[in-house]
Amino acid sequence: MASSVPRAQVLGAGPTGALAALALAQAGWQVQLDDPLSAAELFQRSRAYALTHSSRELLEHLDLWRPLAAHLVPFRTLELCDRATGDQLPFRAADLPQQACSADPAVGWILQHTPLMEVLLAAVAQRPAIEAQLGHGPQRRPGMDLVVAADGHRSPCRRAAGLRQWSRPYRQGCLTVQVGLRGSAPDQAWELFRPEGPFAVLPLGGDAFQLVWSAPLERLRRLEQLEPVAFLEALSTALPERLQPEVLLDQPRAFPVALELAWPLRRGPVVLVGEAAHRSHPVGGQGLNLCWRDVQELGQLAALVSAGRLAARRLPGRYARRRWPDILLVLLATDALVRLFSNRQPLLLPLRRLALAALARSGWLRRLCLGAMTLGPCRLLPR
Ligand SMILES: Cc1cc2nc3c(=O)[nH]c(=O)nc-3n(C[C@H](O)[C@H](O)[C@H](O)COP(=O)(O)OP(=O)(O)OC[C@H]3O[C@@H](n4cnc5c(N)ncnc54)[C@H](O)[C@@H]3O)c2cc1C
Repeated sequence: MASSVPRAQVLGAGPTGALAALALAQAGWQVQLDDPLSAAELFQRSRAYALTHSSRELLEHLDLWRPLAAHLVPFRTLELCDRATGDQLPFRAADLPQQACSADPAVGWILQHTPLMEVLLAAVAQRPAIEAQLGHGPQRRPGMDLVVAADGHRSPCRRAAGLRQWSRPYRQGCLTVQVGLRGSAPDQAWELFRPEGPFAVLPLGGDAFQLVWSAPLERLRRLEQLEPVAFLEALSTALPERLQPEVLLDQPRAFPVALELAWPLRRGPVVLVGEAAHRSHPVGGQGLNLCWRDVQELGQLAALVSAGRLAARRLPGRYARRRWPDILLVLLATDALVRLFSNRQPLLLPLRRLALAALARSGWLRRLCLGAMTLGPCRLLPR
């Protein structure tokens, strides 16, 4: 078993790679973290992530929850609305399963990309076990026990390792924009199921909200080009009457969305984590949380190696086996949600009404659904 300090190279210092480096260092590994982007470039994204309780647990374990606390915007209600049937259902913190109870009873938290990356890279700089090389063309380093490919959905490392990727683009794309909005409480989030695609409204503090608007990509590209006044007009027709957009806070950006899965998740010492391994539709805000559950598993296995309870060469295989169920279930569930709700099919409408009515009536069902969303579906299975 491991006689010297195990060594890992992490390729990619985005939200997944930076966190993976911290998790490996916490587990007692020596880590080399590489990204072609400089720290300033890594900070520069106008994006906000919806964090679930599985992400909270990992950030707490890595002592990052407290430094991030000032930037986290909790939402205590998630309003689910089926715009085709007019049905609405609130999920509240009281619907969380026991395993998701925390000091702060929130359904989830919204966190902007820039403060997240500032906190992660500041923590990286403080860990003597991590050597970060940012802003240089990264190269594979010899003699590593583990190579973590966290280099995003195009993953040059995955391609170099000869790992395949299955990809199915959605007809829907996604447009993200931050706006000032009236009509929603500052601790309320919305998932609106519209026939053209799901639409998330996420609180950023005060009257500011991040919108994640799914619709046919060509339509979003046209919306992206509109002048602010015309864009706000189009937006108000897409939102329920009570949500009134008032001002644009950043530039709307449309991008394609795809269902992607790499196969297998490892080769030799290389393991795929985050979007290098999988990508899902943004519905339900699962993407980054699923990426971070890869990191959680990696950190736990790395700690076993440090403790001499697992040979470093066995880590990639065990990681790949353990990550399959969670990844597959989340990709399938998000895909099913998009298919079920992005239409006005007369045969599906009664089914949708029935599903929302059952959820409204049964606290057990609400706990099950919210638990699967916030902790990952596998945490609810008996061990
Ligand atoms: C346009 C866009 C908008 C999005 N908006 C949202 C949103 O509003 N909310 C949300 O929750 N999610 C959003 N997402 C998804 C979210 O960004 C991802 O879930 C998240 O970024 C995944 O993190 P990651 O670290 O796995 O990959 P990435 O963030 O893609 O990071 C990959 C890193 O690898 C680096 N890299 C590339 N090549 C190499 C190499 N050869 N060697 C080493 N490093 C390399 C890159 O420079 C990058 O820093 C969006 C995605 C896109 C594309």
